Amino acid sequence: MHKAPLYICFFSIFFCPSLKAICQFTSQNSHQPKYVLVIHGGAGNITKNNLSDSTAYKEKLTEALEKGADTLKKGGTSLDAVVIVIKILEDSPLFNAGKGAVFNSEGKNELDAAIMDGKTLKAGAVAGVTTIKNPITAARAVMDKTIHVMLIGAGADKFAKEQGLDIVDPSYFFDQKRWDQYLKNKDKSSIGDTNPIMNKYGTVGAVALDIFGNLAAGTSTGGLSNKKYGRVGDSPIIGAGTYANNKTCAVSCTGTGEYFIKNVVAYDISALMEYKGWTVKKASEYVINKKLKTQGGDGGLIALDNKGNFAIPFNTAGMFRCYASSNGETKMMLFK
Ligand code: ASP
Repeated sequence: MHKAPLYICFFSIFFCPSLKAICQFTSQNSHQPKYVLVIHGGAGNITKNNLSDSTAYKEKLTEALEKGADTLKKGGTSLDAVVIVIKILEDSPLFNAGKGAVFNSEGKNELDAAIMDGKTLKAGAVAGVTTIKNPITAARAVMDKTIHVMLIGAGADKFAKEQGLDIVDPSYFFDQKRWDQYLKNKDKSSIGDTNPIMNKYGTVGAVALDIFGNLAAGTSTGGLSNKKYGRVGDSPIIGAGTYANNKTCAVSCTGTGEYFIKNVVAYDISALMEYKGWTVKKASEYVINKKLKTQGGDGGLIALDNKGNFAIPFNTAGMFRCYASSNGETKMMLFK
């Protein structure tokens, strides 16, 4: 009695192309994660020899990953998850962002951060700030509360104060380990000009896809160790170190910022996907391991597409990186 409708169903699925397409789409979708979060804590000379004890780094990244994933799981937006993750890493002296920011050539901390919403293409950034405890929150405020994309220096610090964000004395960013690093490199030719990969890893970034299908990307950094005063890297520049577009992907970069700016890296990956139809993996591998590498630009990035596929290419010895998704996958990696 029930067999006839079953036959009809089987027959129509097999012979009706549009029904077949619907079935295929549904089955692909059932494997598609509802949310994905990918985080980086910088790329550089990260090897087992250089980092004999990685426990503290792993613990902090795990804390950020869990809090961010929990936000996405509870229906929080990708923008919220990105801010939560980056704030945690900014508050840790382990990473070159917020509290752990490196010193510039004058022995000062100048911080950069950016965030972008893949749904609206709205973006916010701050650069060269010295008193904002969590630059990523200021970037978000620029995006949410102004008609602008980027505020710099004293103006950005003033804006953050007006917004009621946490303001600290510049001495808050003092960290002995970073200061020793600064002193060691001080008398050499400017690291910001010549050999930027030394001792400078630790920029932080996050990309997320939320249950509403929206992508977001954020990056925060103290920049390059011993960089020239006033220097701005790629991290706060939309399209260079940070980019998100629901049509394609969300990207956060880390490495020698000048190369990422000149190659408009984050947007380049989105453009390769949009105009050439490349996958997120093909586009980001090409940009990091071919284009940038041939020019001598070192670093890596995290890139996540609107289906939850992601890539984490880097051309340095290592990169702090981890991810979690609604499929239950979670992983942390440091070395090659
Ligand atoms: N890209 C950052 C900058 O150039 C530094 C880094 O990612 O380590 O400011």
